[in-house]
Amino acid sequence: MAKIRILPDRVANQIAAGEVVERPAAVVKELIENSIDAGAQKIEIEFRNGGKSYLRVEDDGIGMSPDQALLCLERHATSKIRKASDLNEIQTFGFRGEALPSISSVSRFTLRTRTELSTAGNEILINGGKIIHVKECGMPKGTRIEVAHLFNSVPGRRKFLKTENTESAHIIHLSKLYALAHPGITFSLIEGTRTLFRSPACENLQDRVREIFGKSLSECLAPIQIEKDGMFLDGLLGKPGYSRPTRKEMLFYVNRRPVESKTMSYALLEAYHTYAPRGRFPPAVLFLKIDSSLVDINIHPAKSELRFRDEMKTRNFLIESILKSVKEISGEINPQEEKIEFEKDSDSGEMVPKISDQLLERFKSTAPSESFEISDAKPELNLSTERMPEDNLKLPKSRDLLESKKMASLNHYVVGLRDEFHATWRLVDHSHGDMALFITPQGVLVFHCRAAYERIRLEELEDSFSINHKTSGQVLLLSESIELSGAETGFLQECLPELSSIGFEIEEFGRNFFRVEACPAWLNPAEAISYLRDFLEIATESGGMIQVEKYAKEAMIKQATKNLGTKESYSENEIIQLANQLLSCRNPYTCPQGRPIYYELPVRDFENRFRRKL
Ligand code: ADP
Ligand code: MG
Repeated sequence: MAKIRILPDRVANQIAAGEVVERPAAVVKELIENSIDAGAQKIEIEFRNGGKSYLRVEDDGIGMSPDQALLCLERHATSKIRKASDLNEIQTFGFRGEALPSISSVSRFTLRTRTELSTAGNEILINGGKIIHVKECGMPKGTRIEVAHLFNSVPGRRKFLKTENTESAHIIHLSKLYALAHPGITFSLIEGTRTLFRSPACENLQDRVREIFGKSLSECLAPIQIEKDGMFLDGLLGKPGYSRPTRKEMLFYVNRRPVESKTMSYALLEAYHTYAPRGRFPPAVLFLKIDSSLVDINIHPAKSELRFRDEMKTRNFLIESILKSVKEISGEINPQEEKIEFEKDSDSGEMVPKISDQLLERFKSTAPSESFEISDAKPELNLSTERMPEDNLKLPKSRDLLESKKMASLNHYVVGLRDEFHATWRLVDHSHGDMALFITPQGVLVFHCRAAYERIRLEELEDSFSINHKTSGQVLLLSESIELSGAETGFLQECLPELSSIGFEIEEFGRNFFRVEACPAWLNPAEAISYLRDFLEIATESGGMIQVEKYAKEAMIKQATKNLGTKESYSENEIIQLANQLLSCRNPYTCPQGRPIYYELPVRDFENRFRRKL
């Protein structure tokens, strides 16, 4: 075997380059991070041929003095940390001191830089790790780095690069990621002679999203902000009813660093469970701020992966916060928390629920179609109770409080037949099975009856669940007995208090034998035993880590989408009743599986198609 020897720096740098800069976008990432760390107010990124032949990142940051400029090209030369313990509280993007030496060892690399105090700039040209020249140059304050012929000195690596289009796409995506996280910095991205985006310093994230992703994405996002136990989550979340075919618009940051975080994407998808259809993804730009000692970013040279010290706690915080925010965005209100105020109706003199401006405002801002606005005209008629058909859909009866809440929001949304011109939604026809068509002041609305029915039923179930909390369920006509294994008995006994709080009455009447006397009102009594068996099976599989409430919710969704009450077709009156009930739902936009319930096609769309005014 050959003798052991220390590798020359140049070779060591080229090896490190394999990890740090696997593709042109990774070079761009390192350079943008350096510019941000240098306090830049303006960053310009330019590239050609997917960055393979040329790329440049230029900033107006603090720059480097001539000796610092030479030093920064040495391996492990960094101004950002001094000792290992600094790793626990890193405030900058960089700290490994590896990027510049690695990049310059595998390309033709030009660094130009000047500090505020120096009169002239300094230029260093390096080719494949060898210094070609160092000289003075004209240069405004800041740093400009050009990288040409990437991987020229390691042809093996060049082969791994993908097509120009793919590499360009990576650079563009990455530049957008950083631009989003720093709306206060002016960003420009140029490909060859084409400016892909130029975004001046923006006031906030939403403006930045509009600048670089366009109006349509920015309009379907709503700002959120939540803090708990030293963790802080803010950013933008997709409004319910909007979803994307890919995960491309699920963007995550930890302490302003873009990350691919399984924990964060899991939490987002979990929270959007019933708000986005299966196989579609909610758009989101989320920033998690967390004590830097609670997160380890030093597990991957490119720092794109990270590990939370307390994974469970972080995940729970995220799910809870996202869920709470998405409910707020969709205008969901906990019926137990909501207080309904009453006021005297001037016409009838009766006390009627007061319409909350807040509620209407919220509804307005989360309407699923771009042009969906509540007309300013005061509704002339309240929903008249005579014109409501019989309760022939057999939906469970609601409590009075909910009923009045419905009236409160319905006062503004009247659904009626085609000739009822006061109605906001006028039913014109129903066809193709479950589809119904309405005319609205803004356009045409296509409505899915079955989806609406499922959503209404789910919320009725949820209401009965929260109302039944701590109260009794429905008593079974014949109590049923169930025999369990030793382990299952243990879990059941542990969960008994919670199960009884959702309406189960279960008694032990022998070793491993139980009798079920009552089950929750929302559960079909014939399914009480199989519900318990499934519950215990999952509890056993997960070693007892099961939350009764979460499981109950899952069961409700199943229950709501069962064939119960499926009808061949709905009558017009039934459709109107469905629409009315839907409009008073907390989330009227998506069915329990997250699929849309209705679409509104604005008049403007038709005008575009006809190419003339209607
Ligand atoms: P790190 O960022 O991990 O410190 P780099 O190799 O990326 O390592 O950079 C080395 C050093 O060069 C940095 O610590 C910084 O002091 C300096 N530097 C790099 N880029 C810039 C820049 N755009 N403006 C000012 N200083 C820079
Ligand atoms: Mg760096």
